[in-house]
Amino acid sequence: MKLEAKLTALLGTPVAEADDGAIYRALMQLCAEQLEGREEKRPGRKLYYLSAEFLTGKLLSNNLLNLGLREEAEQLLQQAGKSLSAIEEAEPEPSLGNGGLGRLAACFLDSIATLGLPGDGVGLCYHCGLFRQEFRDEKQCEVPDFWRQKPDWLHETGVRFPVKAGEFELEAEMFDLDVSGYGGGRRALHLFDLKTADESIIRDGIGFDKEDIARNLTLFLYPDDSDEAGRKLRVYQQYFLVSAAAQLILKELKEAGFPPASLAEHTVIQINDTHPSLIIPELIDRLVKEGVALGDAIEIVTNTCAYTNHTILAEALEKWPVDTLEEVVPHLMPIIRELDARVKAAAPELGSKVAIIDEQNLVHMARMDIHYGFSVNGVAALHTEILKETELHDFYTLYPEKFNNKTNGITFRRWLMACNPALSSWIDGKIGREWRKDGRLEKLLDFVKDEKALDELLAIKEGAKREVCEGFLQKYALDKDSVFDIQIKRMHQYKRQQMNALWVIWKYLEIKAGRLPKRPVTVIFGAKAAPAYTLAKDTIHLILCLQKLIDADPEVRPYLRVVMVENYNVSAAEALIPACDISEQISLASKEASGTGNMKMMLNGAVTLGTLDGANVEIAELVGEENIFLFGRKSGEVIDLYQKSGYRSADYYDGDPEIEKLVDFVISKQLIRIGDPENLCRVYKDLVCKDWFMTLLDLKEYIAAKERALESFEDRRGWAKKMLINIARAGFFSSDRTIFQYNADIWHLTPKGEE
Ligand SMILES: *Cc1c(COP(=O)(O)O)cnc(C)c1O
Repeated sequence: MKLEAKLTALLGTPVAEADDGAIYRALMQLCAEQLEGREEKRPGRKLYYLSAEFLTGKLLSNNLLNLGLREEAEQLLQQAGKSLSAIEEAEPEPSLGNGGLGRLAACFLDSIATLGLPGDGVGLCYHCGLFRQEFRDEKQCEVPDFWRQKPDWLHETGVRFPVKAGEFELEAEMFDLDVSGYGGGRRALHLFDLKTADESIIRDGIGFDKEDIARNLTLFLYPDDSDEAGRKLRVYQQYFLVSAAAQLILKELKEAGFPPASLAEHTVIQINDTHPSLIIPELIDRLVKEGVALGDAIEIVTNTCAYTNHTILAEALEKWPVDTLEEVVPHLMPIIRELDARVKAAAPELGSKVAIIDEQNLVHMARMDIHYGFSVNGVAALHTEILKETELHDFYTLYPEKFNNKTNGITFRRWLMACNPALSSWIDGKIGREWRKDGRLEKLLDFVKDEKALDELLAIKEGAKREVCEGFLQKYALDKDSVFDIQIKRMHQYKRQQMNALWVIWKYLEIKAGRLPKRPVTVIFGAKAAPAYTLAKDTIHLILCLQKLIDADPEVRPYLRVVMVENYNVSAAEALIPACDISEQISLASKEASGTGNMKMMLNGAVTLGTLDGANVEIAELVGEENIFLFGRKSGEVIDLYQKSGYRSADYYDGDPEIEKLVDFVISKQLIRIGDPENLCRVYKDLVCKDWFMTLLDLKEYIAAKERALESFEDRRGWAKKMLINIARAGFFSSDRTIFQYNADIWHLTPKGEE
């Protein structure tokens, strides 16, 4: 066996005699060697995908899979008495992202490499990235995640760029992560680090001196920006990324023999959300310094840059004070003012509504992207419609041709083949292996009436639940035969984990009143809260208190469990998703741009319980109403309510004794005894007095819909049919499809082999 010989040579001993750490290092080296043979030359036109986050997940087993070595490696390890998953324990998960946006960027790179498109990712090489979450006294604590332990997958490139920001003369150092394509292809994720970053300045959890830019710049992703110094640091970070990226892009253009003025012909830059928006003035500045006339430089950059909008939450659309930018990027301010003046001159009738610099002297990053980019895309059909009709309507009137939709996707390599090998081989057995290449799963629909196939599918789900109970969730001693109801995503009020918590309270009180469920339910949460987001942290506290209350209650515990997993990340998602029965996608309609967790769970045979929000709308269209549990107000009604200020949570609280009872339980004696009254009171008060994301509006319908789902779970074959239809219809959500569309409509790159 070739692999065995290579591994033995790398280890210097037979595999059976090596320890897991040594095997991990040997496999890592093996992947690196294999990937080196896949050198990619630059063709004419190249994409740079700029993003503040790349939530890659662990790399070993994905690389083995994409290199076609995984099955062989697993067999070989098994024969030697080892297991790949145990070996993977040695690998720290890269901490380079936060949530869906960063995970999307990682899925996209996987698809770009797989489709053989000439495109690389560009981001920052954070030392600690997002914090590691620990629970103490039913509360979230943030601790630094030192994930860059040697040996890691980062390659030193020797490429360095000077970055002058404010009064600081910084140096950006480029590290590369290899991105393997499935069945061939390799691309790079270029990550810039600050030469002088210094981990020793971190203290008290994730605290540090925010003004010590020369030492703190690349330590953390999204440093707390609740104060002035924090906001300035964010701008420094963004500029550092953008300046290094611009220098890399222009250097590669030159090395390929093209003049700076031909940038737009040979380059496309996808701006992933607004964090890298300063790339626009930075490139204009650099082109002008290369001798290009200002007007031409503006046109060239506009024809180079494309922007992806990820949210319609106003507080997430970045606006930086002119004063801050004057301090950090003084050389860009004349350009930004010029860009703003041109907008105001061209569209005087729209005036301040589309201005880059508003009356309060705030610079609107998204507006700059829209005016000075050639494409604006939303990330699901509904989201793009809302952008066009409501949020960005004035811009849509100005530039209808720029707007387009690219519904998000996920890579089936990581989110099915790697995380759920049992389901993957079952699919192979039913429809052959072609789906692994083309993502097409509809042929599974031939089996909707095949009772044997449906029973096999149920057995695979049971197997996945058993595995997670005995592995990842072992310490909770869960009932593998209970219904696994899973809500895993960043903690945010709009995603409405608080509504799920109120359901837990409802079910708890039902059980206490003797109305027992037919089958026990296990509600699993996983979520980090932004360190400065008080209400999100309070919601975590509420959930952990409920977990403790129920665990200690012998009357309830046999029927209902709540588990909030610590430090939710990609590895946790990979462990949990194959075991999911009910996928909780319950955001307030109009607020979730797309969601991708919904797609991952659908692909693994979960049935969605959700609102008509984001990509849930497209899921519902694909699977049909019988194969999804929908509830709640529609986006149109919600948008109307906001416009008319027509929602008062107190009306729902006062007007419905059942709602009142559930909300009151948040500050009940039982919970206050376990938790911290201050935190619980804040949750209670918010629900009664504010409830900006309208939890109480949809609560009753949510409870009813979840009962319907649990009831229908008892018809096991009927449920299996729903599972099958969900899997069969998930093909649309392959990120290969998404990337194909980005390329066809926006990037226009030539795939390898078709030059
Ligand atoms: C997919 C994923 C997300 C996004 O989940 P949503 O439900 O779409 O918000 C967030 N975090 C991790 C670790 C993921 O894998």
